[in-house]
Amino acid sequence: MSHPVVVIGAGLSGLHASRLLVQAGQKVLLIEARERLGGRVLSQGLPSAAHRADLGPSWFWPGLNPRVERLAAEFGLGVYPQYARGATAIEGQDGQVRKQQSSWEQSPSSYRIEGGTQSLIERSYERIQDQVDLKTGTRLLGMKLRVDAVELTLKDASGSWTQLASQVVLTVPPRLTAQDLQMEPSWPEALVKDMRNTPTWMAGQAKFVAIYQNAFWREAGWSGAAMSHRGPMVEIHDASDATGQTAALFGFVGASPAYRAGIGTEALASQSLAQLVRLFGPAAATPLWSGVKDWAQEPLTASESDRQPLAYHPMYGDPVVPGEWGQRLWLAGTERSANYGGYLEGALDAAEQAVKGLLAQVAKQSLRQQINTP
Ligand SMILES: Cc1cc2nc3c(=O)[nH]c(=O)nc-3n(C[C@H](O)[C@H](O)[C@H](O)COP(=O)(O)OP(=O)(O)OC[C@H]3O[C@@H](n4cnc5c(N)ncnc54)[C@H](O)[C@@H]3O)c2cc1C
Repeated sequence: MSHPVVVIGAGLSGLHASRLLVQAGQKVLLIEARERLGGRVLSQGLPSAAHRADLGPSWFWPGLNPRVERLAAEFGLGVYPQYARGATAIEGQDGQVRKQQSSWEQSPSSYRIEGGTQSLIERSYERIQDQVDLKTGTRLLGMKLRVDAVELTLKDASGSWTQLASQVVLTVPPRLTAQDLQMEPSWPEALVKDMRNTPTWMAGQAKFVAIYQNAFWREAGWSGAAMSHRGPMVEIHDASDATGQTAALFGFVGASPAYRAGIGTEALASQSLAQLVRLFGPAAATPLWSGVKDWAQEPLTASESDRQPLAYHPMYGDPVVPGEWGQRLWLAGTERSANYGGYLEGALDAAEQAVKGLLAQVAKQSLRQQINTP
């Protein structure tokens, strides 16, 4: 029996790659180290409410992100522009709040996905769940290149074992690949160094979200957008659903990963809530639900180096695979997209490029086999 194509990582890139492979008739084994799907995509909220707030990505840009737009449309998911009507709150270092009447419209406009970005993950998996063998809580430790296959060393709660793969699609971010995975034959030092120098986009960030009964800030003329020189959140936005019936605010935490780790998520959440009260009044003190996600503390997203703040969006380039691995290993994940690296669009783009290369290789191999079969 032929070995499956093994996809490592069930974030957006791994799920998209798996779906494309299944559509092309490949047998797919999808391996995910976390117990949940989505990777950096995570939407949470009240179990009873349809709306969930995004603790990972929340925006895409129609026109600029055609793959995300197409996927949402294909899955029948509504999309809606980021709410920005009303005044912006500017908080000084001393905690004084100034009402800036101009709204914080992004240009081009950013859009959200109905039900949170995680809807993309759920719908992607729904489409393939009967055709893909999924193993969550299973971590890739290393890969060994054999003549006819790749031997993967995997580990779950019951121990470690090996699995043969005809082809591998690897969506683990480059830094974690360089840090965590044992390759045999090993990769050239220059390439490993380059991977270590490739930041995992947004991995050093933390987000706070609070869900409310109603968008009380809108009634008071605020858009929900705020900029703060005091913190802990430095940039805040409205995160309500399309109708505003389920109301929410979210903010990017500006405090450093070291500071956050020092005070812990509970203290960070209560400081963030206190900040929302300073900005938008006492109604902010009693959310229906609130949560913090500190991505820098997630070893399956952030490496030690990702805890250093990024001053710019890194240049991501086409993936390089050492020659001998070139016929069996395909690198995906958003950091492998030259045009959209870092974004959701990049996760989809990189998956498409990887699967395209893989399928061309499989077609070549099967042609060679046919020619050699008497
Ligand atoms: C706070 C935050 C805000 C963001 N905002 C936006 C936004 O508004 N718009 C936007 O376009 N993008 C945004 N992004 C970026 C976006 O989330 C990513 O581009 C996208 O989710 C990357 O998907 P991926 O599948 O490439 O990687 P990941 O989601 O990181 O998936 C990699 C998967 O591999 C798994 N894994 C890691 N190591 C192993 C191993 N050894 N074995 C098995 N599995 C392993 C991980 O658990 C993970 O599930 C944001 C990210 C964050 C964190």
